[in-house]
Amino acid sequence: MKFGTKVIHAGIQPDPSTGAIMTPIFQTSTYVQAAPGKHKGYEYGRSQNPTRTVLENNLASLENGAMAICFGSGLAAMDAVLKLLDPQDEVVSTNDIYGGSYRIMNQVFAKYNIKFHYVGMDTIKNIEAVVNEKTKMIWIETPTNPMLNIIDIKMVCDYAKSKGIMVCVDNTFASPYLQNPIDLGADIVIHSATKYLGGHSDVVHGAVITKDLDTGAQLRFIQKAVGAIPGPQDCFLVLRGIKTLHVRVQRACENARKVAEYLLTNEKVNNVYYPGFDSHPNHEVAKRQMKDFGAMISFDFKDDNIDTATEMLSATSLFALAESLGGVESLIGHPATMTHGSIPREERLKVGLTDSLIRLSVGIEDIDDLIADLDQALAKV
Ligand SMILES: *Cc1c(COP(=O)(O)O)cnc(C)c1O
Repeated sequence: MKFGTKVIHAGIQPDPSTGAIMTPIFQTSTYVQAAPGKHKGYEYGRSQNPTRTVLENNLASLENGAMAICFGSGLAAMDAVLKLLDPQDEVVSTNDIYGGSYRIMNQVFAKYNIKFHYVGMDTIKNIEAVVNEKTKMIWIETPTNPMLNIIDIKMVCDYAKSKGIMVCVDNTFASPYLQNPIDLGADIVIHSATKYLGGHSDVVHGAVITKDLDTGAQLRFIQKAVGAIPGPQDCFLVLRGIKTLHVRVQRACENARKVAEYLLTNEKVNNVYYPGFDSHPNHEVAKRQMKDFGAMISFDFKDDNIDTATEMLSATSLFALAESLGGVESLIGHPATMTHGSIPREERLKVGLTDSLIRLSVGIEDIDDLIADLDQALAKV
């Protein structure tokens, strides 16, 4: 099946008991057994749920993996992956990552003696500089958040393989429509399904997809032991969202290109970060590993201060001021005070995350209305 068919059909069958074409929401905590141990593959809701199973099979197919395991949020999915590690193990992570990912690494797993190194992953040299015999995992987030750098997944995976290090890619920003890290050599992919997969800003959900069944089984065990499962209704919402993933993301990418081109022409704007520009430092890598350049854009102001950003954030009307991304509606955010508030200012500035930096999640509204909204807002700044 091609991608546009997989989103609608992979792993999904009409319900055998009724013929319902949509996967039912199995709102149940337990399952009746005919005799002790004699059941239909479902024993207890923490371990298995049929709505969840369908979603997991669909996601494994979208990412070309062997297995998928769904969680109550993206961070719960990340928590399970980091629990594959032991105390004293070390992780090399992208330096420009989602604020919550930085927080779980530094403020939770660091307590259990797991050490994290944050590096720019534009060259292997930076990774090599911190790799040692304790390094067990490389954590990639690409496109990065909010600077929209593109990391060459295949380059990093080739290096990791030569050292026997596992690679996990947070594929939330790209979505499986634009990029499939397992095809490029990654061992594990995680998603905050809250974003593009759900796509309608109505559910918080996470998923892990593994290249092999062994790692999948370890994660399944962690999920059962720890219990960070999603509810069946949330699984249904993600399944429903995925059915239009390809058309939503494609339209959002088309809109984003036009928004980025518009921003370049505004004299108050300083930098526009968008991997689709020829001038973007990682444009060639993006062209190679992604189907399109995504729908996230960041920009900052020549007059770089928080007040300028605040004026902009209050002046838009279609672009809603909110955390999150990947929904059908366009959002505007201020990483320095919102998503990346837990990262110290010096660390932020090192990667170009200035005080006035604005991040846009471009939605699928009419492009003329989106540009008109930004234009009137910029006029007020
Ligand atoms: C939102 C997000 C997460 C966290 O996911 P939740 O569903 O909010 O727990 C992780 N990584 C990235 C890149 C995200 O955007």
